[in-house]
Amino acid sequence: MTMEVLRTRGELERLDALRGQGPLVLVPTMGALHEGHLSLVRLATKIGPVVVSIFVNPTQFGPEEDLAAYPRDLDRDLELLRPLEVDAVFAPDVDQVYGQPGEVTVEPGRRAGGLCGASRPGHFRGVLTVVAKLLGLVRPDVGVFGRKDAQQCLVIDQMVRDLCLPVRLIDGPTVREPDGLAMSSRNRYLTGRDRERALCLQQALRQARRLILAGERDPDVLEEAMGRELAAADRPDYAAIRSVPELRRLERVQGRVLLAVAAQVGPARLIDNLVLEVRDGKVSETGLLDTTRTADGKE
Ligand code: AMP
Repeated sequence: MTMEVLRTRGELERLDALRGQGPLVLVPTMGALHEGHLSLVRLATKIGPVVVSIFVNPTQFGPEEDLAAYPRDLDRDLELLRPLEVDAVFAPDVDQVYGQPGEVTVEPGRRAGGLCGASRPGHFRGVLTVVAKLLGLVRPDVGVFGRKDAQQCLVIDQMVRDLCLPVRLIDGPTVREPDGLAMSSRNRYLTGRDRERALCLQQALRQARRLILAGERDPDVLEEAMGRELAAADRPDYAAIRSVPELRRLERVQGRVLLAVAAQVGPARLIDNLVLEVRDGKVSETGLLDTTRTADGKE
């Protein structure tokens, strides 16, 4: 099987040959692929024919952010995807995705209000606009997203529901380095001491989980404990506990909850999170979307 590499809107016609061979699955990425992306692709290949998009979306970067420096290496990405039974890669230039200024954009709903939405104004508008375009261009039956970007996943889920888009979303688990650091294309900005300090995000989540396992249910106490761990970063951004899927503040930790942290470490803005189901004294790691439990494609 050959992997088609499609660079233009017109070439997307070739995807029609894949429709009808099972649900068409889209895995959107910004490239600089790592094992986290590849795990989503493997999940996708269990469901149906797979399209991976590789597009560094300019509209989701703020003016002070790393759009110019963001790593791009299409040839390497294609080599990583070739062994994985990917049917097509959609790797458009910016002019294939965006037209003239003044185009319609997608305004996120309330799930985008806090966390990264609060510290990165316009970020989720950019994310939703490009995801809506990719869904419109590729017309997949299923979209696969990473739990690593938990708020992004839930903000996209709200768009799909509220705009009645005909696609089913699945979230895949976070893949980590052996020492626990969540894999990210931005990890390559980290060297020496910064790489070590980056572990404070993971330590914050572990500490909160330990406290929850020991019976702590007060979100303020847990957020404070995570904040203490995050103090090792150059600029801690947030250490928060929210309800899933609505991302509301909690009075008490119960049901499905998101533990989420973000911080600047050296040149990299890093995020990490953990989704827990806390019920009747039992605590287990879980997914963000209800479809997670049917990730094998079965209803
Ligand atoms: P990005 O290229 O950073 O836009 O990410 C593309 C997709 O891969 C998104 O759905 C991310 O949530 C997901 N992703 C990024 N890092 C990881 C990871 N470490 N484990 C699993 N999925 C990830």
